[in-house]
Amino acid sequence: MKKFLLSSGLMFGLSACGTTYVLPDIDESSATRAKSMFVEAQTETSRKTVSHATAERRFQRVARRVEPVAEKFCEAETASLNGFDCDVQVAIDLKAKERNAYFTYAKDRPVIFMTMPILQDMQNDDEVAFVMSHEYGHLIGRHIQKQKQQAMAGALILGALTAYSNAQAASAGVSYDPDAVGRNMELGAAAGSRAYSQSYELESDTLGARIAKASGYDPVKGAQYFARPEDARTEAGNLSFWGTHPPDEKRLATVLAVSAQIEAKQGLQRKQ
Ligand SMILES: [Zn+2]
Repeated sequence: MKKFLLSSGLMFGLSACGTTYVLPDIDESSATRAKSMFVEAQTETSRKTVSHATAERRFQRVARRVEPVAEKFCEAETASLNGFDCDVQVAIDLKAKERNAYFTYAKDRPVIFMTMPILQDMQNDDEVAFVMSHEYGHLIGRHIQKQKQQAMAGALILGALTAYSNAQAASAGVSYDPDAVGRNMELGAAAGSRAYSQSYELESDTLGARIAKASGYDPVKGAQYFARPEDARTEAGNLSFWGTHPPDEKRLATVLAVSAQIEAKQGLQRKQ
C-alpha cells in the first residue's frame, strides 16, 4: 500500500511538470546556425545603453503591437480552460535596479514586468518584443500553476518518505523527529520547483517566437539577447536574468527551428 501511494505520487509529479506543446525538433541547419550565432553573441562587446526616454518609447511601441496579438493567441490556446485570464498587464518596473523581465501574478491578475535597466540595455525592438513574448509563453504554458503542483508533489513524496522512516524508527524504539518531516517537505518543494525548468524555458521560447513573429518582429534577432556573455548572479548575489534564463545554443536553435516551422506554415503542436 505504501509503495502504491509513493509511486502514484511520483507519477502525478511527473505528469504535472511536462510541457503542453511539442518542442520543435532541432534540424541540422538550425543547430549549425545556432552554434555560430552563439559564438558571435558571446564575443559581442559593443553594446550601448540607451536613455530612459528612448527605452520607454521603445517599450510602449513594442507593447502596443505585441499585447493584442499575444492576448488573442492566449485566448485561442486556453479556450478549453474555464476562466483562464489572458488579459495581462504589461508594464515597466521602474523601481528595480537590475536588468530583469518576468511574468507573475499580482493580486491574482497576470502581469509582465520589464525593468528600466533591461530596457535601456536592449539594442532594438526585436529584443524587447522577443523577451516580452517569451514571458507570455510562461503564462500560456501555465508554468506557475504546474510548478506549484510539482512542488506540492515533490514535498508530498519526500514528506511521506520521512514520515514512513520515522514511523519505522518509532516502532523500533528509536526517537521520532517531527521537524524532519517539515524540513524534508520544504526540501522536496524546492527540488520539485526547479526540476524541468529548462523545458519550460524552451516551451516559452517556442510560444514566444510565434507571438513575436505574428506581431511583426524577428524572433531570431530578438533571442540573441539571451545569448550574451553575462554572469548568472547579480552583484547582490541573486540569480540574474541570465541565471534564470541560462544562455545556450539550444535556446537559439529552438527559435531558429520554430522560425523554420512558421516559414513552412506548420502550426503549433500540442502533446497527446
Ligand atoms: Zn523564461
